[in-house]
Amino acid sequence: MRGGSVMFLDFNDLNEFDEVEQTNFDSKEPVPAIVNNEKVRKFLLAGDCHCHIENMRSGNSFEYKIQRNKNKSNMFFVNVMSGLGEIYCGYFYINSTLIDYRKGDKGSCEESDPRIQTLLWTLRNSKKLPSFVIVQHFGRCAHCGSPLTDVESLHRGLCPICEY
Ligand SMILES: [Zn+2]
Repeated sequence: MRGGSVMFLDFNDLNEFDEVEQTNFDSKEPVPAIVNNEKVRKFLLAGDCHCHIENMRSGNSFEYKIQRNKNKSNMFFVNVMSGLGEIYCGYFYINSTLIDYRKGDKGSCEESDPRIQTLLWTLRNSKKLPSFVIVQHFGRCAHCGSPLTDVESLHRGLCPICEY
């Protein structure tokens, strides 16, 4: 149906389609929740972030794990979730707005890969993220991993303790 052919769906069909889409992520977490755009940068760089980023303008939509290097606080490892499972892409260094991404020896995604481009674009624009970019968490704090329960935590992707 994405190839441009015309299909007629009633609401029941749409619901079924949505369920198929979600199982592709193979996630055991509850339904993802949207992070407020002003909170996205802090969320993505919280240290142990599991997220989904959708750029509705480019049409790109991917699921990531972004983990801080415990020995270098400005270095982050990037994994993406795909139909083949979790893939280690590479890492980046971040200094304010400057982001230096590298595939490294063990990574499998060049900087030109749409999955990396989507993430880097989101980070580079995260201080004033446009509304066509949707960042979602999977119900857990992006720093400590504890379940997010209250409304404010769900809007920032960080638990009250990690909202430093
Ligand atoms: Zn936390």
